[in-house]
Amino acid sequence: MKALVYHGAGKKRWEEKSLPQLIESTDAIVRVIKTTICGTDLHILKGDVPTVNEGRILGHEGIGIVEAVGESVRNIKVGDKVIISCITVCGSCHYCKRQLYSHCEDGGWILGHKIDGTQAEQVRIPHADNSLHRLPAGVDEEAALMLSDILPTGLEIGVINGRVQPGHTIALIGSGPVGLSALLASQFYSPAHIIMIDTDENRLRVAQQFGADTIINPARQNVVEEIQKLTDGIGVDVAIECVGIPATFKICQDIIAAGGYIANVGVHGKSVELHLEDLWIKNITITTGLVNTNSTPLLLKSVQSGKISPEKLVTHRYLLSQIETAYEVFGNAAQEKVLKIVLTAE
Ligand SMILES: [Zn+2]
Ligand SMILES: [Zn+2]
Repeated sequence: MKALVYHGAGKKRWEEKSLPQLIESTDAIVRVIKTTICGTDLHILKGDVPTVNEGRILGHEGIGIVEAVGESVRNIKVGDKVIISCITVCGSCHYCKRQLYSHCEDGGWILGHKIDGTQAEQVRIPHADNSLHRLPAGVDEEAALMLSDILPTGLEIGVINGRVQPGHTIALIGSGPVGLSALLASQFYSPAHIIMIDTDENRLRVAQQFGADTIINPARQNVVEEIQKLTDGIGVDVAIECVGIPATFKICQDIIAAGGYIANVGVHGKSVELHLEDLWIKNITITTGLVNTNSTPLLLKSVQSGKISPEKLVTHRYLLSQIETAYEVFGNAAQEKVLKIVLTAE
């Protein structure tokens, strides 16, 4: 089969690999129908994730058809159409018993990281019963693909960790795919006012279409002054950080109201300044996290009923065999106006 293989920092190739085989009795083999590229894949290619070895097939998002299952797999059957969760879940370890699946001792984020991933014609999925979600007939495949990672991440690590409540004023910092996912998910909780902050005008316009009430561009506006005006000097109840750089984390600290929540979603590569000299007295809470994907079954129902349309995040489409071109386009996101790219197998 063909797969996108990592060959060290800056190097990747669409090349021939042997088909994955069942190893454990709890495994399934899935033929990939659709997959996508994540910002995390770009981090890996930059060499930012040293736990990824050369020769690894990248990708942790996808939907597909089950080709084979091990003898212990009970719920997933050959022929099922499934969402591949970015988090592998054993279901019985110390962390899984606390629903902290992202830290599963025999799983967590391993796809396209510690084991071969989904940017391939076929992929082996460990603990298939817990790590695959059967896709009901009639659900849009592109919408379902967004449930592998970004929608659950926006909901769990942004909106739920940030304790968004009806009537809240919330600010999202970063209008990329995950920030926009958090924006979509926040509307389950009816915040009174949603503010999106980003320096990319195109992405701000998309945020407005997705339901942002106010957009702020720090490149030409003073964020703190704008938020003060909007909130009568109080600040926002929730600030959701979806970028992962010191400047955006600072914005969160500058605009948070007393009693507020700062929910960090962004992947940080360097340390940030924490202004406890201002914040110690403000009764705020800061949360961090990696998605657990325990919200995926509920999000799937919301997609099925039409309450949420995450397929709106898809801006570009290619064949899976064109993945190297797709990487170039995705790496040039601002210029190419890319949010999510769908790669479809032939
Ligand atoms: Zn991802
Ligand atoms: Zn586990």
